[in-house]
Amino acid sequence: MKLVVKYRINPTPEESEVLQKLGTYATKLYNTDNYIRREEWAKTGKIPNWYKQKKRLKNNHWYKLLPSQTAQGVIKSLQDAYNSWFKLRKTDEDAGPPMFRKNNRLSPLTFYQQFVIEGDVITFRMSKKFRKETGVDRISFKVNKWRGIEGIPKMCNIIFQDGKWIVHVVYEVPEKPLNNNPEIMAVDVGIVNLATTVDTNGNSTIYSGKGALSVQHYFNKEIVKVQSKTKKQHNKKWSNTLSRMCEKKKRQTNQIIHTVTKEVIKEAQRNGVGTIVVGDVKNIRKGKHWNKKASQKLHSWGFAKLISQIEYKAKLSGIQVKKVSERDTSKTCSICGMVKASNRKHRGLYVCECGNKMNADVNGGVNLLKKYLRENNISRSIGSVVEPSIWRCVNVIPS
Ligand SMILES: [Zn+2]
Repeated sequence: MKLVVKYRINPTPEESEVLQKLGTYATKLYNTDNYIRREEWAKTGKIPNWYKQKKRLKNNHWYKLLPSQTAQGVIKSLQDAYNSWFKLRKTDEDAGPPMFRKNNRLSPLTFYQQFVIEGDVITFRMSKKFRKETGVDRISFKVNKWRGIEGIPKMCNIIFQDGKWIVHVVYEVPEKPLNNNPEIMAVDVGIVNLATTVDTNGNSTIYSGKGALSVQHYFNKEIVKVQSKTKKQHNKKWSNTLSRMCEKKKRQTNQIIHTVTKEVIKEAQRNGVGTIVVGDVKNIRKGKHWNKKASQKLHSWGFAKLISQIEYKAKLSGIQVKKVSERDTSKTCSICGMVKASNRKHRGLYVCECGNKMNADVNGGVNLLKKYLRENNISRSIGSVVEPSIWRCVNVIPS
């Protein structure tokens, strides 16, 4: 299983200069590649594939200044951009091909075999040509907050982001054997509350979605503003600023999803959970009867991502994950079993004629848990659900 770990590095001015050079070369290679692609597109209506481009650019000045796999990574990233443009063109005829990067922009640097990790030090090897021109054959960094991952580092990416140098290391890590603990915990995902957990002992936690919502609101508003400005001033639909804003929105949302899923797994471990039950993502949108606007939000938030992160982090912790259909789980009373759509009341409360009055997401979570037990013929009662604890994502300030 793959695990991505982010580390911050603090290069000296000399090292920073090396990284800046590499980032600039990568941008130049990207633009050269893009130039050739655009010309070929104009002439033939076809885009060269990346093997062909790799071959063509093999002796290019910028290519040779970069470690060879870093150069290939640049070409691959442009190929990916062209592939998404190809898809987009089918529905949006105004969509333009990938743009050129500003010359002073530092492109990300990908390393496969040309890096090595020893203790908390990462070393990157330079290309022959770079060595010849600058006398630098490698640069090493002691990383901040080393996490000592037990795995094999397969790939890494150096990114210059908001004035900081960040290294993403992709590890191949072994899965943990299942802990086989008896307790079962259901996780209900939603908009107002990102996740709501209920376990067989009656423990329950609500993971508030307020932080994620404010990030969405903030960026959606800002994006609309910049969009209309771009349209007015440059008569363009899209700009690099807009791409960067979308990137930021995604990054901050992902950060929240990452934090929430981590907390969910911690809770499972604390409560001796061996099985986590989640709703089947494919059915989430159908089952919940959300209006169109809400389901668009749902889509853009990537709840699939939330569930896949739970699955993945559970695997790392020896907890198995099972899926059940979410059908009717939000409409059913978890106490008497009556199914009534109108029972899902506003302000997050589920109110039933039988006297049941509980948080609607907790009610959904109990139903999910009961459904799993029923479908798997597990005879276990669920302890009476205590008042759920509320977890909020603090220090999320969209900016
Ligand atoms: Zn009821």
